[in-house]
Amino acid sequence: MIGIIYSDKYLLHAPPFYHSENPERLSAIINSINTNSDLKRRIQFLEPRSASQEEIRLVHTEKHFNYVKNSIQAGKHVLDSGDTYANKHSLDVALLAAGGVLTAVDVVMNEKFLRIFCAVRPPGHHAESNRVMGFCFFNNIAIGAQHAIEKHKLERVAIVDWDVHHGNGTQEIFYNSSEVLFISLHQHPLYPGTGMSSEIGIGEGKGFTMNFPLPPRTGGKIYLSIFNEKILQRLIDFNPQLLMISAGFDAHRDDPLSDMKLVENDYFQMTKLLNRLADEIGIPIVSVLEGGYNLTALGNSVCKHLEGFIHEPNQMTESSLCES
Ligand SMILES: [Zn+2]
Repeated sequence: MIGIIYSDKYLLHAPPFYHSENPERLSAIINSINTNSDLKRRIQFLEPRSASQEEIRLVHTEKHFNYVKNSIQAGKHVLDSGDTYANKHSLDVALLAAGGVLTAVDVVMNEKFLRIFCAVRPPGHHAESNRVMGFCFFNNIAIGAQHAIEKHKLERVAIVDWDVHHGNGTQEIFYNSSEVLFISLHQHPLYPGTGMSSEIGIGEGKGFTMNFPLPPRTGGKIYLSIFNEKILQRLIDFNPQLLMISAGFDAHRDDPLSDMKLVENDYFQMTKLLNRLADEIGIPIVSVLEGGYNLTALGNSVCKHLEGFIHEPNQMTESSLCES
């Protein structure tokens, strides 16, 4: 069974003006899962808890937490230069998004589920330790990773980030850490502009950040070859105790915010590679939603991602999983 962290409360964070990061994204995902009967009997919805201020502080400064809290409580609608909107529910929803990942980490560490997808929003991977950025308040996946290290005493957590945008926040938070291996594939040039292959970490973290900036119009063949030739071996060498995925689906060819060429089946194939590796080394996977802004592509891609966690290849042939 695959666990899905989800709550209708995630829909309450809504833009006061048109914005591509909107509640309809999650509704599209949930509808897509619920109308896929084969997938539906293999998943179980799990209720998220809220993160505490102390848990947000695992990776963020007190100043950052107070800035987010005070800005939202004061009724501010935009928390940065224009990307990151808020309404009166946004603080509670952001705490529930980070808490959703904490819930997932606790559940996999208790071995109740070994694969969990967190259908959470607002997204997190652009949020730095002291900076709201790119639709993100708190870095959900980084908080989950640090929680796994501090609460569950893990020594090695790997994060693979295939969102089309560089996960600058996650990189910044763990840049000098050897406990978290951060690997990002992203379009370059594109927002936020960071993520050069020369950015590899500093101090103890040197060699524990890996960036693959890819030119516009890169397709699945290149992504899969990078996984096969570089990423899988680095993961095996690192020998993580928990694998996390910053699962953005905005490198899809129909996504309005990028120029990449991935299709649904590419997300299936990338997931399958990571799933097989996690099986071989016997570790759980917590996948966390980041971007993805074409609703149809997003819903279908998340389903393919989840199918990549399912074993039993005789029940699902390659051909039935291939998208046109
Ligand atoms: Zn993105």
